[in-house]
Amino acid sequence: MKRTAEVVIIGGGCMGASVAYHLARLGVTDVVLLERETMLATGSTGRNAGGVRHQFSNEANIKLSIESIGLLERFADEVGHPIDFHQDGYLFLLSSPSSVDTFKRNVALQRGLGIEVQWLDAAEAAALAPGLNADGVLAATFCRRDGIADPNGVTMGFARTAQSLGVTIERDVEVTGITVAAGRVAAIETTRGTIDTRTVVNAAGPHARLIGKMAGADVPVDPIRRHIFIAAPGPGQTPLHVPSSHIMVIDFETTFYFHREGAGLLFGMGDRQETPTFDTTVQWDFLPQVIDVAVTRLPTLADASISHAWAGLYEMSPDGNPIVGAAEGVEGLFLINGFSGHGFQHSPAAGRILADVITGRDPHFDLTPFAHARFSTLGAAAGERYVV
Ligand SMILES: Cc1cc2nc3c(=O)[nH]c(=O)nc-3n(C[C@H](O)[C@H](O)[C@H](O)COP(=O)(O)OP(=O)(O)OC[C@H]3O[C@@H](n4cnc5c(N)ncnc54)[C@H](O)[C@@H]3O)c2cc1C
Repeated sequence: MKRTAEVVIIGGGCMGASVAYHLARLGVTDVVLLERETMLATGSTGRNAGGVRHQFSNEANIKLSIESIGLLERFADEVGHPIDFHQDGYLFLLSSPSSVDTFKRNVALQRGLGIEVQWLDAAEAAALAPGLNADGVLAATFCRRDGIADPNGVTMGFARTAQSLGVTIERDVEVTGITVAAGRVAAIETTRGTIDTRTVVNAAGPHARLIGKMAGADVPVDPIRRHIFIAAPGPGQTPLHVPSSHIMVIDFETTFYFHREGAGLLFGMGDRQETPTFDTTVQWDFLPQVIDVAVTRLPTLADASISHAWAGLYEMSPDGNPIVGAAEGVEGLFLINGFSGHGFQHSPAAGRILADVITGRDPHFDLTPFAHARFSTLGAAAGERYVV
């Protein structure tokens, strides 16, 4: 393994891979990316639902989406590897007057930034997603350019091109410590020895707080378990009555969401009882709560069998916004953390922005809402309301 590097990136998920790619595109190739698992993209990145949307409540997140979705649309040409990307839209269902009010403000914000978001009534929403029961839905919003992309393809695309440009990727190496001398990063310790470096990127997803602690930085990111279930028609049963497109449907009040997955259906829902944990064991006793909500919105689920399920970790920040940029108090430590369950889709832009910051370029992006210092000296900024 290399013993010195200009930049060391900790974590081989979508964030680490995107930073590596964008640094390499800027000509910074004395970079080592370290991943403790034997494969890349096996953390949160490998367990996510692939959703990609413009529909956020915070202007900075909408801007991340505009740039990221643009790159996903050009991925094969620009990054050099094909990805699976279906832009069949995101449909948000709203069943309370207060949600309708919130969405009115946010749709105005999204449209002001050039996003084509439509207002629909319940019947129009049901027509877009065959099988959906829209009883009680007061209104819905739909953006056709939102969609579902392939997290593994995107991460591996970034990683392969970064490697071909000269970046070193080491797997099966765990970072165990960070040496800070006179307030600046000096080296990192790993299970395969020390690497001297003056620049470290914390791209450790739900483990970001632990990496921050190694350098003496408080990175307020909590791991929160989220489940995904896959439903399929039972043996000899008729096909599920689900949309033929890959439209993503989100019942905003309950956070129940679904999209077609092969011949079946991928669905999930937030569990408000979850407390921070690194445990990714599937809690099967949560399934009945999800099904209670799910069959109301999608009655065909009553006849389906659950073919499999998994759990992964959201990397929650206190305000639902990510932390992107220099770490407060430790020179040479950079953060790309706390994406609060919507990081996959923002990894293309976030990696570009952080690569610009690391190399001293102007990122042409106001990072105030994402600043590490907002939790201390800078004071709170508006966070993100659309955390599903
Ligand atoms: C169930 C679920 C559904 C989701 N759905 C969506 C969605 O629809 N759309 C969306 O945009 N986002 C979604 N997300 C969120 C998204 O998956 C994350 O925001 C994103 O994957 C974060 O990427 P990352 O690279 O920061 O983290 P990770 O993918 O977790 O990568 C971090 C890596 O760091 C490595 N690491 C940690 N500590 C060390 C160490 N000490 N040494 C070496 N390596 C280390 C880990 O092994 C890991 O591979 C979902 C998440 C979950 C759990």
